[in-house]
Formats: sequence, C-alpha cells, structure tokens
Amino acid sequence: MRIAFIGLGHMGAPMASNLQKAGHEVAGFDLSADAARAAGVPLAASAADAVAGAEVVISMLPASRHVEALYFGEGLLDRIAAGTLVIDSSTIASATSRKLAEAGAARGLAVLDAPVSGGTAGAAAGTLTFMVGGDAAHLERARPVLEKMGANIFHAGGAGAGQAAKMCNNMLLGILMIGTSEALALGVANGLDPAVLSEIMRRSSGGNWALEKYNPFPGVMPNVPASKGYSGGFGGDLMLKDLGLAMDNAVQAGAATPLGSLARSLYAAHSLAGHGALDFSSILKALQRPA
Ligand code: NAD
Repeated sequence: MRIAFIGLGHMGAPMASNLQKAGHEVAGFDLSADAARAAGVPLAASAADAVAGAEVVISMLPASRHVEALYFGEGLLDRIAAGTLVIDSSTIASATSRKLAEAGAARGLAVLDAPVSGGTAGAAAGTLTFMVGGDAAHLERARPVLEKMGANIFHAGGAGAGQAAKMCNNMLLGILMIGTSEALALGVANGLDPAVLSEIMRRSSGGNWALEKYNPFPGVMPNVPASKGYSGGFGGDLMLKDLGLAMDNAVQAGAATPLGSLARSLYAAHSLAGHGALDFSSILKALQRPA
C-alpha cells in the first residue's frame, strides 16, 4: 500500500520504518528537516505531496494544536482523496479527534483516532498497543497496517474513544512513575542499592511497568532513558500535556482525580525547572536529594 506518514519524531520514525520493512511504499514528512533525515524512510517535500496518491495517511504529532494546524490550518484534509483511510496516532484531546472524524466523514474520508502505548522501544519492535476510536469497519480496514506496528489492537469505541482510553492510561502512568521514583529515592536515602530495591519491589506487591521495563534510576536497567541521561523516550513535557488532557477532561466529567492533579503539578514544576525536554522518568530528579 502507499502510505503517507506525517510526523517522524521519536515514535513516528520507527513506526514508519516498520511499515516500509513490511513492504509498504512509505512517503514520510516532518516539519523538522533533521527529524525527517534521521527517520531513514523515503521523504516527500511537503505533507500535501506525501498524501498525493496515498491509500492510507498516518499522523504522529505532539499535541492537539499540531493536529489542528496540519489538517485544518494547512488544509491537508482538503488534499486527501475521498475514500482514504486517515489514522491519527498522536495523543490529543478526544474533542479534537471527534472534530477531525466529523470533518473527514464530510469529505468521504475514513478517520480513526489510534493513540499508542509502548514507548519508543515498542515502536521500534513493532509491539505497540493501539487504542482505536471510530467505526469498526474503518478499523478492519486499518488492522493489517496497524498490525505491522503493534501487537495489541483494541477498539475502544466511537470517534474519540481511543483518546479517552489513552488519557486514562497515561494519567495512571504518570502517577506510577512518580510513585516508583519516590520509593526508589527513599530507599537510596536509607542506604539501599537501587538495583536491589528495584528487584525486590518488582517481585513484590509494588511491582509495576516502570520497574519491569522503564526503571527511572540511572544505571539499574540498560537501554532505558534513565541510563542514557534521560535522553530519547517520552518527553516530560509530553507527559505534562497528557496529564493536562486528563485534568481538563476530569473537570468536564465531574470526576475526582486527586493523584492525577498532583502528578500534573509535579510535572509542571519539573518543566519549569528546565527538565521538560528530558524523558518523563527524570521526575526522579525532583524527588531525590542532589548528590
Ligand atoms: P516528537 O516530538 O518526537 O515527534 C513529533 C514530530 O512531529 C516532530 O518531529 C515534529 O517536528 C513533527 N511535527 C509537528 N507538527 C508537524 C506538522 N504540522 N507536520 C509535520 N510534522 C510535524 O514526539 P513523539 O515522542 O514521537 O510523540 C508523538 C505523539 O505520540 C505524542 O502525542 C506523544 O504524546 C505520543 N506518544 C509518545 C510516546 C513516547 O514514548 N515518545 C509514547 C506513546 C505516545
């Protein structure tokens, strides 16, 4: 299939690369020339050029405003041929996904929101979890493409439901990364070896995804951002954005999210302290006594 892939950042680049390896004809585009060059997939000169003749359009952008700017501001929606499948995998507000789905349907496009979980390692390995919102029939069309990038594909419900599921997951992730960092910092302050404590908690009732796959303490786990100066991975400012989406939504839904609210405040302070570009596991720095 001919696939346009727009947004070749930490996640988009390995996802596009997996589609290309699976034999699809990929035309990539990113506003950042550096990101585009580093992606290692064939490039188009513009987003409009990328979607020309594409059967599937996939976008992987940072936040709602980037998705709005691409499809509405730059008018890309009007450049995509009727009948095309449009999959937005960015983590954005459910309301923006619903707006995109409605505007796309009015133009004869099949639009899905399909945010992902699994991090950059999951993107590289093709083992992402996709949380899909939109028509079940559109999802069946998308499934063979999504299967080349992910191992788990869930239909969460109608347009915007994928984003709602992702918002809940990432609120929990932010909270558990802070809790894990807090426990490790307390243990180290008590003279414990962070690697030994991590293994104890991983195999005890405190076990969780951060301890299994994404330890925030430098040097405990190879190849995770914490062991690479918190570079790569999932930016703290992206986590702050996701917690903001959850808090906006909680206000509208009348939901009680006390820990989500505290997590957003901690990530906001971490960002103001100048650490927003680091991986989100660097929140450990905010909880640890300086060496
Ligand atoms: P990123 O900042 O590394 O990449 C986003 C890319 O989009 C950038 O290269 C940027 O130049 C490009 N871009 C922005 N506007 C554009 C436009 N109009 N046209 C073309 N390119 C444009 O971000 P990322 O880490 O790849 O994350 C992408 C999305 O996936 C975010 O919504 C994030 O919350 C979500 N996500 C990230 C991870 C992770 O571990 N990094 C995990 C799950 C979900």
